[in-house]
Amino acid sequence: MTFDSVLRGSTHPGLCASCLNSRLVAGANSRFWLCELSRTDPRFPRYPRLPVLRCDGYQPAAEHPQPERP
Ligand code: SF4
Repeated sequence: MTFDSVLRGSTHPGLCASCLNSRLVAGANSRFWLCELSRTDPRFPRYPRLPVLRCDGYQPAAEHPQPERP
């Protein structure tokens, strides 16, 4: 599944698409963008209303590269 295929036919998630704190949850017929900050900070909803255009918790994922897996 490519990122483009996830976005096709659905609302663009806005900032969540490139945020370190987001996680895509895929169900049988739908997909949701989960905000991991919601676990520790009540200001952030578990499933933000999309598209997220401004967010105090936004952290560009590219600034926090994940370690490569073997
Ligand atoms: S911190 Fe903001 S931009 Fe990042 S996943 Fe949560 S709601 Fe989306």
